[in-house]
Amino acid sequence: MSQFLGDPSRDYVILGEGNTSARIDDETFFVKASGTRLAGIERDGFVAVRNAPILEMLDAGDLSDREIDQRLMAARVDQSGPIKPSVETLFHAWLLSQPDVNFVGHTHPTAVNAIMCSVGWRDAIQGRIFPDEIVYCGVAPAYLEYTDPGCALARAIRSTVEEYGDRCGLVPKVVLIQNHGMIALGATAGEVQDITQMWVKVARVLAGTQAFGGPHFISQENVDRLHTRPDEDYRRRVARAQGG
Ligand SMILES: [Zn+2]
Repeated sequence: MSQFLGDPSRDYVILGEGNTSARIDDETFFVKASGTRLAGIERDGFVAVRNAPILEMLDAGDLSDREIDQRLMAARVDQSGPIKPSVETLFHAWLLSQPDVNFVGHTHPTAVNAIMCSVGWRDAIQGRIFPDEIVYCGVAPAYLEYTDPGCALARAIRSTVEEYGDRCGLVPKVVLIQNHGMIALGATAGEVQDITQMWVKVARVLAGTQAFGGPHFISQENVDRLHTRPDEDYRRRVARAQGG
């Protein structure tokens, strides 16, 4: 999954951009090491961390960059060696604690950021534009305004996803961050790949609609219908089995 998302030909990330994580068990997960490149990443590009001490940081009040660094290093399962977890480990820990989320992929696709770095981003993502967007990426993405990466971003993602859950009754598949990028949440590694691919396509189509008067959104009635249709549910399960 990490190599897939990091493949330069997909244009989801370049250089050290983006980070990925995978649940190991209820107490630990793998996350990309700080500074590692996703392109061609291997086993040694990840660090296993304990989630409890990381989740505690989200409720620990103001933490300096130094304190965050120290606590992240202390959360490693293996304390030997200098390998440091990414500062975005905080939001990975919280997202992996959500039901049915076992893999998380965070990328900065050029097509997605063309929207998320624009003046009109909020209006552009208010509606759904084609059936497969809903099949793979759910009824709607969750989204939030630009927030300082690290502890502040993890706390903002937590409140955004909680508010989304209160409103929609489920965990989003896609979280969009203004002036930053996207996060895909999946039960399997394949699902994270599928969601990222599909939302990048959504972004490209949205950009294309600007040449013809802007996007025409599917009605809420049809969005709900697509989300609950048995044949679409079947397609979703087949896609998950193939991807995962
Ligand atoms: Zn990022």
